[in-house]
Amino acid sequence: MNGKVVKTDDEWRKLLSSSQFRVMREKGTERAFSGAYWNAHEKSVYVCAACGLELFSSDTKFESGTGWPSFSAPIAGERVETESDASLGITRSEVHCARCGGHLGHVFDDGPKPSGLRYCINSVSLYQEKR
Ligand code: FE
Repeated sequence: MNGKVVKTDDEWRKLLSSSQFRVMREKGTERAFSGAYWNAHEKSVYVCAACGLELFSSDTKFESGTGWPSFSAPIAGERVETESDASLGITRSEVHCARCGGHLGHVFDDGPKPSGLRYCINSVSLYQEKR
């Protein structure tokens, strides 16, 4: 993606809350059912909490029962990137913002049709803009 946002950890620490930094820059995970958006249903666009890129829409948000906001697709494929994550002894696909590299969550292949994908995203990595 053009116009990548690149900052040092010190710069990110000044911009992000401590919980945002832990998740977005250190790939942490918020506790299930603890975030602001797992049960949100308003028509909205969810933007990257670090750089503001529009990532997900309420149109693809679904009830996964996991306690994390779950989407079947990003707003556009190039908005997010994935990489293999072998932590926790299993291989998962890590998902991050394509513009700033901020960690968002993971994507699994047990989502609803037609995509079959479940983007399991930390609320703290998102900011909800009601539309
Ligand atoms: Fe971002």
